[in-house]
Amino acid sequence: MTDLNRTVFQKRTDRTVEEIDTLVVGAGQAGVAMSEHLTKLGVPHLVLERNRIAEAWRTGRWDSLVANGPAWHDRFPGMEFDIDPDGFPAKEQVAAYFETYARQFDAPIRTGVEVKSVVRNADRPGFTIETSEGVIQANRVVAATGPFQKPVIPAIAPKDEKLYQIHSAHYYNPQQLPEGAVLVVGAGSSGVQIADELMRAGKQVYLSVGAHDRPPRSYRNRDFCWWLGVLGLWDAEEVQPGREHVTIAVSGARGGETIDFRRLANEGMTLVGLTQAFADGKVAFQDNLVENLRLGDENYLALLDAADAYIARNGLDLPEEPEARRVYPDAECVRNPIRELDLAEAGITSIIWATGYAVDFSWLQVDAFDDKGKPRHQRGVSREPGVYFVGLPWLSRRGSSFIWGVWHDAKHVADHIATQRKYLAYRDASQHQDEAAESQTQKAASWE
Ligand SMILES: Cc1cc2nc3c(=O)[nH]c(=O)nc-3n(C[C@H](O)[C@H](O)[C@H](O)COP(=O)(O)OP(=O)(O)OC[C@H]3O[C@@H](n4cnc5c(N)ncnc54)[C@H](O)[C@@H]3O)c2cc1C
Repeated sequence: MTDLNRTVFQKRTDRTVEEIDTLVVGAGQAGVAMSEHLTKLGVPHLVLERNRIAEAWRTGRWDSLVANGPAWHDRFPGMEFDIDPDGFPAKEQVAAYFETYARQFDAPIRTGVEVKSVVRNADRPGFTIETSEGVIQANRVVAATGPFQKPVIPAIAPKDEKLYQIHSAHYYNPQQLPEGAVLVVGAGSSGVQIADELMRAGKQVYLSVGAHDRPPRSYRNRDFCWWLGVLGLWDAEEVQPGREHVTIAVSGARGGETIDFRRLANEGMTLVGLTQAFADGKVAFQDNLVENLRLGDENYLALLDAADAYIARNGLDLPEEPEARRVYPDAECVRNPIRELDLAEAGITSIIWATGYAVDFSWLQVDAFDDKGKPRHQRGVSREPGVYFVGLPWLSRRGSSFIWGVWHDAKHVADHIATQRKYLAYRDASQHQDEAAESQTQKAASWE
């Protein structure tokens, strides 16, 4: 713990209630970034983490996962990864990175402590926080509990006990699955990477593909992260209407490669449209595979066009790459999409639901949510004074839930906290006089 926090972080005389200015809940990348900025601004704070620093990267993801962005990009400004900057760190390396980063500035993180509830005090400022290790009083609370808290499996999931069904959050490796074919529902980055790994492990894989963006891994010697940066696309402030359910399909696996569904189909994966319903041992798919692939291709080509235009406009010397526009021939599953599949006939014994996550703020019992339970905030500053959010998708922009993006959002939130503290520290002339008199009295008493 820094000296700053050690001096101000006190225990009350009854030794049961601790007091701190700002409590940060969660020590993933969002909590670590928050702590760095609060430390720089001299704000006394404590970070509580129920597991370990960056736990999601340790146990919440599959064994072979590497970062989706290259090491030069998916990091905080204050430290580089200890690998080739154009490489993709393995998930353990990402976890170790955040642990080392936190150690760098002696972040006041306490692990193994769960926050059970946060309630606004009725008769005095601040909040009462119940934790697994006692009660804390804080003036401010920052929720840094992550964008992906509760795995979501849609209600259409069959109740068939013979099927092995898991969410992608509980997928670790191909050996975990029973013999037989597998249906992966959802083709965002998680779904498509898991489907690819299973196909490479020799499984017959059905992949249910919804609306997606699929930027090129790299184009004309620049990674898509660079292109999204220079083209201002990471900075988009709002999801365009109608695109709320569009996922992004990218991968850093095997050194990084463009997700091309047509290529995967040519390699033996069976693509199907959105999964619609299960009944009588059969699964029905929507008739939208071809359209989803078409829109994905359109998104891919639009980025190539924007990149070409950027290069021309700025006179950059980056090599042309016409082969990036090559289109794979349509495999049978794309020419004649399957609309219904008998699970037993297809030999499907497992389903992996790569269908995303929801947030869970049941512990944060304050007036900071709309009637759908969504946090109401402006760039992380809640409508409920003293409550803050970091790490949520689209908190301020498209990059908000990603490693580099959360660092900038946390800076804004920390600045807001420091500014509020300045207001509260204001004393008028009479208060200054009272305080001076009080200090004189104390000095006199100490000389007696
Ligand atoms: C499969 C996958 C791959 C990803 N790859 C990338 C990538 O390559 N690059 C990138 O930029 N982003 C990536 N992301 C997105 C994002 O960076 C990660 O989800 C990241 O873990 C989010 O960090 P966070 O700190 O906001 O949340 P989390 O990492 O989820 O951290 C929140 C922490 O809060 C703790 N917590 C929760 N509730 C409580 C409580 N009540 N009391 C105490 N502690 C609590 C949790 O234990 C957890 O450690 C990926 C996401 C997924 C799902």
